[in-house]
Amino acid sequence: MKFGAYVYEPEKASGFDFHLLRVKIETGARIPPVQDMYSNIAVFADNAAARSHPDWISQSPLGPARMGNSNFNIYWSVVCATQPEHRAEQLDYIEDVDRHSLGVWLNSQYFADHGHCTCPRCKELWRKSGLGWLEWRRKEVTDYIAQVRERVKKELVMCIQPDPVTACERYGVDFDDLAKYADAFNVVMFSKNYATPWYWEMLARGFKKLLKKPVYISLYVYGPGDTAKDVPSASELLTVSVRCARAGIDGILYLASGPSQIRDFQKAAVDKVELRERLKSYGDQPVHEVLGLVKSWEKIVG
Ligand SMILES: [Zn+2]
Repeated sequence: MKFGAYVYEPEKASGFDFHLLRVKIETGARIPPVQDMYSNIAVFADNAAARSHPDWISQSPLGPARMGNSNFNIYWSVVCATQPEHRAEQLDYIEDVDRHSLGVWLNSQYFADHGHCTCPRCKELWRKSGLGWLEWRRKEVTDYIAQVRERVKKELVMCIQPDPVTACERYGVDFDDLAKYADAFNVVMFSKNYATPWYWEMLARGFKKLLKKPVYISLYVYGPGDTAKDVPSASELLTVSVRCARAGIDGILYLASGPSQIRDFQKAAVDKVELRERLKSYGDQPVHEVLGLVKSWEKIVG
């Protein structure tokens, strides 16, 4: 297994195999990529683009994909996935970021959610395609990822929502289609607590069965603006890491604002001596790799 730090600040945390930097987040804010880190780009979730071009926002019978529309799990505004200027600008941007970093991990590279997008352009494109609605959406997403693949010379990773069953109906995402272009998948399993590790383990197992490329998962440690009481405990994170590891996944990333929050987590994890001992009986090799990682942090936080 491989372990990564997934951060908002352009600085590497100690004690990981690789580093993923959020160079463009859902607010639309961008920071320069870093040569020896991977780059994470939110493609269609983009508050800034939606603010500058209100007519680009994805539409649906349940309203637009605007931050605050509680019909959907949308925490930011999402641009229509067929918007040609946004698509083109993102392709150029992705190519440039790839050139200046180790590769690109995309999220929000698909439709906003079920029922999207019903803007006049999408309805016209769908009508002309002669395809069924879901089939057309799937083709739009897959064709765009094929264009991205032509631009990205280094690693290309597809971040996907933790929904193994209705990804096509909701997002137009077909896992086998994307596997043709992706070097790996990253299942984003962000939660502010992991009190029910059974469910996360089940999801990890399900995705490992479905996805035809290596599978990473991402866990939530400490986001920008969080306080200590907002975030999962070190015990929950250790337990869920071990339980997902034994499901056969290929790696785990830990999301935090920056190296300082990662280090606080490492220290708290190292301090869970009793739990680390107990977790040794939870499985074989992958479990011991997670526990070995925590052991290796002893000298970092010591
Ligand atoms: Zn549209």
